Amino acid sequence: MYPNIEINLRKLSKNARFVLEACQNNGINFPFAVVKVFAGDLPCTKTIIDAGYHYLADSRIENLIKYTDLNVKKVLLRISMPSDIENVIRYSDLSLESEIITIEALNIEARAQKKIHDIILMLDLGDLREGIFCNDNYLSRVSEILRCKNINLLGIGTNLTCYGGVIPTDENMNKLVEIKNNIEKEFQIKLEIISGGNSSSLKMLLDHQLPQEINNLRIGEAIALGRETAYGENIPNMEDDIFTINAELIEVMKKPSLPIGEIGVNAFGEKPVIRDQGMMKRGILALGRQDVYYENLIPLDSNIKIIGQSSDHLIVDLTKTDYHLGDIISFNVNYGGLLQTMSSLYVKKIYIK
Ligand SMILES: *Cc1c(COP(=O)(O)O)cnc(C)c1O
Repeated sequence: MYPNIEINLRKLSKNARFVLEACQNNGINFPFAVVKVFAGDLPCTKTIIDAGYHYLADSRIENLIKYTDLNVKKVLLRISMPSDIENVIRYSDLSLESEIITIEALNIEARAQKKIHDIILMLDLGDLREGIFCNDNYLSRVSEILRCKNINLLGIGTNLTCYGGVIPTDENMNKLVEIKNNIEKEFQIKLEIISGGNSSSLKMLLDHQLPQEINNLRIGEAIALGRETAYGENIPNMEDDIFTINAELIEVMKKPSLPIGEIGVNAFGEKPVIRDQGMMKRGILALGRQDVYYENLIPLDSNIKIIGQSSDHLIVDLTKTDYHLGDIISFNVNYGGLLQTMSSLYVKKIYIK
């Protein structure tokens, strides 16, 4: 059945073990396994958890609900929606938070459900996604949090290289440590978790450059794609070809390369810029934007060139190849492509054990 995504669970397990060991060899005993890119896929998530993780992290409650039977702590990565407080308390053991109004609502709901809910307070060190901005008065926020009797401030964390592209450095990592020290001193408390980021912090970890106070990372992409994300480099001894997308040729014909007629806009409102390359052997694959955007695909056969895509069709230049109607063409994916294919209703999953 096509299109499909082949998932090599053996390689996925190897990457999960690699990251876990790298963390544990560098003072991070309980890294969070981030599984959000799998869009709730149980075989992928179970494979990673079985490598020995104690914490499973996802950005969506719907996915954490699917993982209820897995015997690990469930972490909600995306700061809670004010409209979803009841589910956050019910289905997550720990959530990342920044807004005091949300935390106070979590406190009230936790009391109602007779629970103590753990949170990690997010600090924004300049990437400008979630978290209290580090130059703001975070101590007064902490004092408000400490008044919430059913909330346990388990630690602090930061997120980098997500929106602003800011990479982890000595400077911003030490800033997080300084914030930890200030909070602990001011309130005479101990913060158990100091969470120094995501796959973009992996390079500093592997180079033994993270401050020793950083005792947690939240790792997703590196496990899935075998690369760190500060510089986008593959990590030696990790697998970078776990996922393969396969699609079927539904038309192979010789046609001109330049459209004929007056040019308006395509199905997506874009004005196409197309260069005349004369006659061309053109293929259409049954793989559209409802499956995965072509910008996220890399053909395994480098003789194939991607020309364009609509909702359900991917047009390729097959001039330098010998493909026929019904043949299958395979692609690697980047992170965005993996996210799309795993989320698409139309891409079948094939697990290789
Ligand atoms: C997605 C996410 C991560 C994991 O990021 P990767 O780059 O996939 O390792 C960590 N923390 C938060 C808050 C996230 O949203």
